[in-house]
Amino acid sequence: MRNGQPHPGDPQAEDSGDFAGELDGFDRLWTPHRWVYIQGDHKPADSSAGECPFCAAPDKTDEKALIVHRGRTCFVLMNLFPYNSGHMLVCPYRHVADYTDLTDEERIELGELTATAMRVERETAGAQGFNLGMNQGQVAGAGIAAHLHQHVVPRWGGDSNFLPIVARSRALPELLGDARQRLAKAWPQGDDK
Ligand SMILES: [Zn+2]
Repeated sequence: MRNGQPHPGDPQAEDSGDFAGELDGFDRLWTPHRWVYIQGDHKPADSSAGECPFCAAPDKTDEKALIVHRGRTCFVLMNLFPYNSGHMLVCPYRHVADYTDLTDEERIELGELTATAMRVERETAGAQGFNLGMNQGQVAGAGIAAHLHQHVVPRWGGDSNFLPIVARSRALPELLGDARQRLAKAWPQGDDK
């Protein structure tokens, strides 16, 4: 639109009234770039350990793999596809799918690292709440079902808006590399937790 006149090639806003559908109170924000995630381009071709990003991560540098902390049997890394700022994953090093597959030592450390991740997130970013959990199996929503991972999602009052509901999008104020650095720096030293 130039000088108030439509110009060939200019993007045109379409009147929603011209299309079928049920009008509601929401605006739609279209995010085609999300197809990379939704179509699963980042997911391993199969569920073997050789294709698994959680198996590959520990062989890389902390910065490259976004690793916050390396424990004895489990490690903590930033989720590449975060639901919220500071979204961490706690994974066993072993390529196991199910919570019942963990050894006692792994299960204990998974819990300890989860608790430490919460403490560090509270101390460094004032998280007011958390969503914790594991999706067991693809039907339950696990993105990489073959390798167990515990989500640690910090929450703040007002951190959610209409975007996730209408556009499957998240507004994320902190870059992943910065979040990794913030959390790794504050992670308690001197023990393996
Ligand atoms: Zn794996």
